[in-house]
Amino acid sequence: MSENERFDAIIIGAGIIGANIGFELCKAGYRTLNIDKLPAAGYGSTGNSCAIVRTHYSTWGGVAMAYEGLAYWQQWADYLETEDESGTAGFIECGGVYLGDDQRYTDKVLPLFDEIGVPYEIWSTATLRERIPGINVGRHAPPKRADDPNFSDEPSEELNNAVFSPAAGYVTDPQLATHNLQRAAEAKGGEFRFNTEVIAIPIEDGRVVGVELKDGSRIEAPVVVNVAGPHSFVINQMAGVADSMNIKTRALRHEVHHLPSPAGLDFEKDGLLVGDDDLGTYFRPEVGNNVLLGSQDPDCDPQDWVEDPDDFDHELGDDQWRTQVFRLARRLPDLGIPNSKKGIVDLYDVSDDWIPIYDRTDLDGFYLAIGSSGNQFKNASVAAYCMSELIQRTEAGHDHDADPIRITQRHTGLELDMGAYSRNRQINKDSSFSVLG
Ligand SMILES: Cc1cc2nc3c(=O)[nH]c(=O)nc-3n(C[C@H](O)[C@H](O)[C@H](O)COP(=O)(O)OP(=O)(O)OC[C@H]3O[C@@H](n4cnc5c(N)ncnc54)[C@H](O)[C@@H]3O)c2cc1C
Repeated sequence: MSENERFDAIIIGAGIIGANIGFELCKAGYRTLNIDKLPAAGYGSTGNSCAIVRTHYSTWGGVAMAYEGLAYWQQWADYLETEDESGTAGFIECGGVYLGDDQRYTDKVLPLFDEIGVPYEIWSTATLRERIPGINVGRHAPPKRADDPNFSDEPSEELNNAVFSPAAGYVTDPQLATHNLQRAAEAKGGEFRFNTEVIAIPIEDGRVVGVELKDGSRIEAPVVVNVAGPHSFVINQMAGVADSMNIKTRALRHEVHHLPSPAGLDFEKDGLLVGDDDLGTYFRPEVGNNVLLGSQDPDCDPQDWVEDPDDFDHELGDDQWRTQVFRLARRLPDLGIPNSKKGIVDLYDVSDDWIPIYDRTDLDGFYLAIGSSGNQFKNASVAAYCMSELIQRTEAGHDHDADPIRITQRHTGLELDMGAYSRNRQINKDSSFSVLG
């Protein structure tokens, strides 16, 4: 008999999705261990997430999952079933407005909103001006970089209108939300081990049998879940499953910039999420009356793919800062341009079609919750519930590859076809192929 430690399931990663899968598996009666090489829960890409919760995705599954995800955040404290001595992450449901590229909304997103029942309003530019004092409603598309000779051209027309959805907001502290999940899992018997690195995935008789750690020890489990965020492809290589997957993942460097609100605007109190397709940005209120500004990665922006997720440039780039801040200043002309750059740099774990992989693999007992593509913080609890169901049914003998599992969701009652998140799906052509999903 082996002297190694043994669990029912090992989850590699303690980010928001990994910790949430630990919690859901504990609720299903599993004895779980989350392992993370960083010192605490949510210290990986989760900690730098903008933590935006919104429902405008380009696919039925995208909208359905995000609408279900919203309900978890609305009932966060109840969902956890336990108190965290560090406090509970807040959810500010400020609503979100989406500007620009009218066709994407009218042709794709709004029919999905109608079908699924996501509330929305069409705002005129007059309403936009009322709700965001000082906003410039000019049409600037296509997005350009700040050094483009046409960047400062005055727009010849205004945006037609905008789509507002109250079903949107942001989580105030993504790291704390992850810690909340750690405590929730621990209250149900789950364990977490930090500063602990997985270096190999041992296999016996065609089945995963646990993980091997950097200190040379081995921990055994019949189920291992790869939730390693931007390191997902590294773990897949260790398990030898990467080549057998149709959809792959890789790490993309991304910057988010922090700026003070424009003079005279209390964006923290009165602001909302703004998805600005027209200029290629998104922004949201941030504590301290600040604006948190991200990029939608428009075609003109270079994509910075990272070969080694342990070795990338953590400094904000001058060009990207300038381009993004100038784009925002086109929309909010009263924005003061700070002298020094402020923000964060982190990695997305991007799948080939920017839609996540929630699936089993060809290696029995080895599962994937990866490819979150910069947009799955909001869906952590949905993904975790689905992964728990998928693992339980697969381990009970169901052939998910041949007969994809469908899972009725707790809050909305919507039924998600997990085949849409298969590692072997064809590229989903309805995707935006961007962080919008
Ligand atoms: C800048 C940025 C902005 C974002 N904004 C949003 C947003 O507004 N809304 C939204 O919904 N989503 C957003 N996202 C995406 C969201 O944050 C991620 O989808 C989510 O946090 C992923 O969680 P995770 O648990 O899968 O991964 P992570 O948080 O990346 O956790 C993976 C963990 O695995 C650990 N690990 C890796 N390799 C090993 C190993 N060998 N051994 C042990 N541990 C290992 C890492 O240390 C890490 O802690 C954003 C992402 C970024 C980077």
